[in-house]
Amino acid sequence: MGSITPSGGYKIQEVPLGSPRPFRLVCIDAGYSGLLLSIIVGQKMQGENLDYQVYEMNGDLGGKWLVNSYYATASSIHHYLKDTAVKYGHKVTSAVWDEEVGEWCLTVIDMAKGTEFEDRCNALVNATGFLQ
Ligand SMILES: Cc1cc2nc3c(=O)[nH]c(=O)nc-3n(C[C@H](O)[C@H](O)[C@H](O)COP(=O)(O)OP(=O)(O)OC[C@H]3O[C@@H](n4cnc5c(N)ncnc54)[C@H](O)[C@@H]3O)c2cc1C
Repeated sequence: MGSITPSGGYKIQEVPLGSPRPFRLVCIDAGYSGLLLSIIVGQKMQGENLDYQVYEMNGDLGGKWLVNSYYATASSIHHYLKDTAVKYGHKVTSAVWDEEVGEWCLTVIDMAKGTEFEDRCNALVNATGFLQ
């Protein structure tokens, strides 16, 4: 795909107006927020040009309901969450906006393997929980 670089430095893509571009969305969290977003993406974004990734640092999903159990119902809530999603085990350690490319640049640790890798996305949902 060709592009024009005007003197200002930015690039104009030579594609028809309104052409869908590949879009990558990353969500940090496999708690309630991440699960809800995953369901919405699965239901509403079928057939769209969307690449979707969830990263979760715990070896299991559930977020607050994985680590807090002061309510008797915590375990049933956790089991409900477990039944509706899968395990991930990836911790996002850094998210930096790359101004030049217009993308988020993430550093991710694969906690099972102990390795680190980089990922990029157009949009980032930070749902890491504000009630610690
Ligand atoms: C003690 C307590 C009691 C509560 N009681 C209630 C209640 O009775 N009813 C109610 O509705 N809500 C309650 N809440 C609120 C609770 O936070 C929400 O119910 C809900 O669990 C929030 O979901 P979430 O997905 O937004 O965040 P969380 O459940 O916090 O999930 C965040 C997830 O992000 C992951 N994460 C964080 N940082 C990273 C990283 N860098 N890389 C990868 N993964 C990461 C965490 O491991 C976690 O799994 C309570 C919270 C607390 C702390």
